[in-house]
Amino acid sequence: MVVVGIDGVRFDTLASARTPRLDALAAKGFLRPVQVNPDGATMSGPSWTTMVTGVLPPVHNVFDNDFTRHRIAEYPDVLTRVRAHGLATYAAAGWPPLVSAASGGPVFLGGGLLPNDDPGHDLAAWDTTDDTITADACRVLAGPDCPAAAFIYLGAPDVNAHELGVGPAYVTSIERSDLRLGRILDTIEARGSYAEEEWTVIVATDHGHLDEGGHGGDSPEERTAWIAAAGASLPPVPPATLEQADVAAHTLTALGIAIAPAVGGGHDGRSPQGPDPTQWRLYGVPFGARD
Ligand SMILES: [Zn+2]
Repeated sequence: MVVVGIDGVRFDTLASARTPRLDALAAKGFLRPVQVNPDGATMSGPSWTTMVTGVLPPVHNVFDNDFTRHRIAEYPDVLTRVRAHGLATYAAAGWPPLVSAASGGPVFLGGGLLPNDDPGHDLAAWDTTDDTITADACRVLAGPDCPAAAFIYLGAPDVNAHELGVGPAYVTSIERSDLRLGRILDTIEARGSYAEEEWTVIVATDHGHLDEGGHGGDSPEERTAWIAAAGASLPPVPPATLEQADVAAHTLTALGIAIAPAVGGGHDGRSPQGPDPTQWRLYGVPFGARD
């Protein structure tokens, strides 16, 4: 089970970019737009936290890129939940709050690989960081200690759009991300035990961008994100309705981990509840379960 998160890839730009690996994945599964839930701003912090916890910003309490008041310990990230079932996990990201204490993180409570100091606004440094992450992820995914669940974050497209707007360099950065996705997919498919393993791959972005670069508002270009997935755990018919929170729910389901059932009104992943995980449920559901 692998989730590849690519930051800030606008849905209409993605359609114009040459991304053969993502296209092939979509042909085996689906690639669909998803609206960033109106309970959260179109920003990296709330969107990624929603995707990996399965609950919405009023519950995980991440409303922007300041994570200092997060409630992820009470509503854990999906990798932490997977490890609680005795399975190994892996995370790597060049954006520090996902895997380190920067800005009040980490979103992944167990941390993960952070290759360098924050590459900041340096586009070349982001390419290096994303390459380093891809190489390390492939090393781990190829080996005997391959994790049951991995989250691999690629950040170059978002920084390109912020620095240069939605133009040729942004498209190139999306296409380079597709090459990195290809390396990850090739590594998985080259595993000697691949035929016996039931892999699910999810690829997703957190938000779009304005033409001039930037996000956080409510325009369709910012609010429209997307999710792609393929693999053994997918429903036979591609889902018509998706939420970003479904990424966490589907990840757990793909690994055979039961999602706590609903226990009454209001316990819906949208409103804060108590810390007992049997007393609240995810807002996210497995792919197809909304239809
Ligand atoms: Zn972002």
